[in-house]
Amino acid sequence: MSELDTAIQYLPGVGPKRAELLKKELEVSTFGELLRLYPYRYIDKSSITRICDIRSEDAYIQFKATVQTTELKGNGKRLSAIVSDGSGFTEVVFFKGVKWMNEKLKPGSEWIFFGKPQEYNGSFNFVHPDVDSPDKAVSQGSGRLTGVYPSTERLKNSGVTVKWMNKIMAAALNCCLPEIQESLPDYVLAEKGLVDLRTAIRDIHFPANQDALQKATYRLKFEELFLLQLALLKQKYVRSHGSRGILMSKVGDAFNKCYEALPFPLTGAQKRVIKEIREDMKSGHQMNRLLQGDVGSGKTMVAVLSALIAIGNGYQACIMAPTEVLAQQHFRNISKYLKATDVKVALLTGSSKAAERREIHAGLEDGSIGIIVGTHALLEDNVMFYNLGLAIVDEQHRFGVEQRAKLWQKSRVKLAGDEAGDPLPPHVLVMTATPIPRTLAMTLYGDLDVSVIDEMPPGRKPVQTMHATDAKRLGLNNFIRDQIALGRQIFVVYPLIFESEKMDYKNLEQGFEQIVQAFPFPPYKTAIVHGQQSNDEKNFNMSAFAEGRANILVATSVIEVGVDVPNASVMVIESAERFGLSQLHQLRGRVGRGSEKSYCILMTGPKMSKESRHRIELMCQTENGFILAEEDMKMRGPGDIEGTQQSGLPINLQIASLAQDGILLNNARAYADKVLKADPKLENPDNELLAKELRQNKYREYRDYSKIS
Ligand code: ADP
Ligand code: MG
Repeated sequence: MSELDTAIQYLPGVGPKRAELLKKELEVSTFGELLRLYPYRYIDKSSITRICDIRSEDAYIQFKATVQTTELKGNGKRLSAIVSDGSGFTEVVFFKGVKWMNEKLKPGSEWIFFGKPQEYNGSFNFVHPDVDSPDKAVSQGSGRLTGVYPSTERLKNSGVTVKWMNKIMAAALNCCLPEIQESLPDYVLAEKGLVDLRTAIRDIHFPANQDALQKATYRLKFEELFLLQLALLKQKYVRSHGSRGILMSKVGDAFNKCYEALPFPLTGAQKRVIKEIREDMKSGHQMNRLLQGDVGSGKTMVAVLSALIAIGNGYQACIMAPTEVLAQQHFRNISKYLKATDVKVALLTGSSKAAERREIHAGLEDGSIGIIVGTHALLEDNVMFYNLGLAIVDEQHRFGVEQRAKLWQKSRVKLAGDEAGDPLPPHVLVMTATPIPRTLAMTLYGDLDVSVIDEMPPGRKPVQTMHATDAKRLGLNNFIRDQIALGRQIFVVYPLIFESEKMDYKNLEQGFEQIVQAFPFPPYKTAIVHGQQSNDEKNFNMSAFAEGRANILVATSVIEVGVDVPNASVMVIESAERFGLSQLHQLRGRVGRGSEKSYCILMTGPKMSKESRHRIELMCQTENGFILAEEDMKMRGPGDIEGTQQSGLPINLQIASLAQDGILLNNARAYADKVLKADPKLENPDNELLAKELRQNKYREYRDYSKIS
């Protein structure tokens, strides 16, 4: 047994009680685990910051400055000194030892200050910084970075201080450093310029300087991300070699005709994504691609052109939408885009009439229908295809795994190309408007390919977003009246949270009553849509709004307000503090689709938590869904981001952060790809260490996400 497996209670100074606590609070029970508990920040007395360079409240900094003036405030209870280093001024404040400090900080004297900046009245000040004389600080060679480890109240209460943690860490390093085994092959260390694992572990705890710390951090983060991506990509390689796909080698006439007749030039992002899809479809392997793009970024066009590639190669394509309303909308738009071609497109939903249904079923089976748009109705057993070559799924999380797998079995004709005689699976393109941070997507869907439309079509007007409380209700109503007078339409959305469903319905009903009172019929017409209505009722109310017969639509958030109503210019979100950022962003995307200026109004109670306030402020500041998703991830951690819970992936990184280390993650993934290209099964003796790492349990937990298709 290695020292690394020794229980930490045997470390000098730890003992059984604290060992128990460290295990409970930090999940650390052996020397080895202790060494893999890294500081989350460092107290840095190794460099001097210029006052004008202080930018944030994040870190402790050190600066050298001369006292300008001192002043006793609050009846002598507080000392405020204004100090300057020639680059700028800042204030240092003391509440304790006031008298003594006042004597020490004589105007004209120079000191080294060390502390954490706090934002105060638009600039920064320092409360109780450490104060040293410049000579003393230098002669002590205070070039030391002290690690600060994660801690909890209970640990602090039992005497686990920064100093104590550093002491036991030093003891652990002393006895086990030589036992730490390198986890990465030599060639990886050399090619990526990484320090070896022993050096990294030593320096992450006790860095001699910033440079050593940076090298250690880089090595450990790289290792973590690289091994994770290696595990995910390895699954992907196994899959793509195992599952051949339909070879679609040409683009075809229909594609070209449609392309030439487009009413607008494609955006750069649309072009890039179509190229990526095209490459997949002609690769001979099955495409499994996730297409992410904000609401309004033009995914439909990409779907249509992809479908036309399938058509051009003699196959059919289907496009599945999560709701009937969305399917209808897709059908209308797609029919428009296809006018220039002779491709036949049909719509199949739960409310298609029997006669129509029969006709569609026949058309799908004999291949005369090229593209079918529909809802879950497409998955019914009696729907069969002639040869389905591409399945496009809009809004991935609404379709279950098994449901999608059904699409495999639906082709009558054996698809060409498979030696074993098994039908080849259709290509799969999953589209989602829920922006997931790229780094998270790469980890969550690491074995899917991800394309991102990160550019909006030109001409989209920004949506002006404002925050208001109930006190502004009358003003809001006047504003809505003005907008209606201009011929615009209004969405009003109420939260519907599963746990408080009853209360929420009550709020919705009350809200509806209030609106009808404020906007009486005639002349105003208000429609309401919610989950307790029958399908007919929902469709009726929805169309009343979509077709412009109602001025206001009151709805719950669970209702798919995904209908494109270009004339709707105002989105009022009630109790906005109860929504997550992604959801708020999703809802806001429903306006701003027409040529008129649009507004999103976030109504909240007068009191909000700090996080809610931050969310609302962010919404008012940016419309970029990826920025919001990144922020959401920073605020709530990747585990809570929409769409991750279902994935079952343990996103539990030790040192790297999906929110902060995007560039490194790209780099690690590209490198993992290179390693696997050269040695897909990691059989080469050079890669023995990597194969060993991947056999460890933590990577086994990563489910093969490709199975979603
Ligand atoms: P998404 O499905 O991504 O939310 P849509 O495909 O519905 O977005 O497109 C939103 C709107 O933008 C549609 O009205 C569409 O016609 C328009 N559009 C799409 N691509 C472009 C483009 N390249 N230039 C101008 N308008 C475009
Ligand atoms: Mg869409």
